[in-house]
Amino acid sequence: MSRDSTNIFIKTEYDADINGHFNDFGGRYAPEMLIPALEELEAAYSKAKKDKRFQKDLMDLYQNYDGRPTPLYFAKNLTEHLRGAKIFIKNEGLNHTGAHKINHSLGQALLAKRMGKKRIIAETGAGQHGLATATVAAKFGFKCSVFMGKVDYDRQRPNVFWMEQLGAEVIQVFHGTQRLKDAVTATMQDWITNVDDTYYLLGSALGPHPYPSMVRDFQTIVGLEVKEQLKNIYNIKKPDYIIACVGGGSNAIGIFNPYLKDKSVKLIGVEAGGKGIAKIGEHAARLQKNIKKGVVEGYKSYFLQDSDGQVEKTHSISAGLDYAGIGPEHGLLFKKGRVEYKYATDKEVLTAFKLLAKTEGIIPALESAHAIAEVIKTAPKLSKNKTVVVNLSGRGDKDIFILAEALGDKKWKEFLKSKI
Ligand SMILES: *Cc1c(COP(=O)(O)O)cnc(C)c1O
Repeated sequence: MSRDSTNIFIKTEYDADINGHFNDFGGRYAPEMLIPALEELEAAYSKAKKDKRFQKDLMDLYQNYDGRPTPLYFAKNLTEHLRGAKIFIKNEGLNHTGAHKINHSLGQALLAKRMGKKRIIAETGAGQHGLATATVAAKFGFKCSVFMGKVDYDRQRPNVFWMEQLGAEVIQVFHGTQRLKDAVTATMQDWITNVDDTYYLLGSALGPHPYPSMVRDFQTIVGLEVKEQLKNIYNIKKPDYIIACVGGGSNAIGIFNPYLKDKSVKLIGVEAGGKGIAKIGEHAARLQKNIKKGVVEGYKSYFLQDSDGQVEKTHSISAGLDYAGIGPEHGLLFKKGRVEYKYATDKEVLTAFKLLAKTEGIIPALESAHAIAEVIKTAPKLSKNKTVVVNLSGRGDKDIFILAEALGDKKWKEFLKSKI
């Protein structure tokens, strides 16, 4: 990798101001008692950013622990099948632990070490963020506690098992709805109590300042690699389209960031359309209809909420996109029209999943299959000399239970029964 392609700290017109406001989004709406901790984090991060040692250590981790750069692969079969633009897959599924989440987890763990912290905490819903956190905690020798709503804890036994094998303590949260939201509250409370020695590791480009900018920076390596790989391997100056799925927004902002300035590159974010976007509670598409702003979990952005501002239930076949909010920079990019936000339904996602597996021998995570579903709609409308890059945020191994069920695999049920 050249020097140029490792500079993850890019300034764009969409970036936050010094108070963490992305124009009218973002900010730091945290409990009074956490403000000093967030200020300490901000100061430590802005120092680390400028430190050559920190940059070098991070690149070393990316390369030699994580396995970066991940391939940018020309999907010839899928391209021929769809008879349109050339499709390139940025395969983040080949990261250590199988998804892009390791990128920002490594960056934050390295920072926590610099800050002299001894312990890392995180919340997790489906368990993917908990798993990435437990992984880096083991690698860096931190104590690690992961909070999980009891409902999720019971449903996600495989991930709980792995987190425990990695040495993390997985703590069940019994209040409220016993889901992700309550796990977030419990994690915040823990942080308030143990702020001196504890680092709160966030799982997406959201939360109070400086998390959204910091997580974006750590994911920007993805877009930088795409730039370099397109040029060096394929002799393509720039893509015409970049497509990525959007939960909280970290994988999307990471691949978009180096291209935000160049308006000739069209950027598409894909939200979870679930069972369709007609009814509240059946999807997680925040930027399609009834678009509402709010302040939740420390930041201002768009959230699925009722007329009282209560956050609504969401549904998606993919756990990683099943979230009512969206990172603040995406809020701004939506408002400015720089990124177009579309959605894919569960059904379209299953079709996309099957097509990618059969044409390219790549099993995508269900989140990433949302981006593939959009590729299926967009690529055929474009001429053969156009280039589409899709961010395949993760691989699908983790989704075996959901997929076998959704695809009605009878033998799978028998298999599960035989194990009991
Ligand atoms: C968590 C996750 C996502 C969604 O998170 P973002 O912050 O929106 O990227 C997408 N894909 C995979 C594979 C995930 O694990």
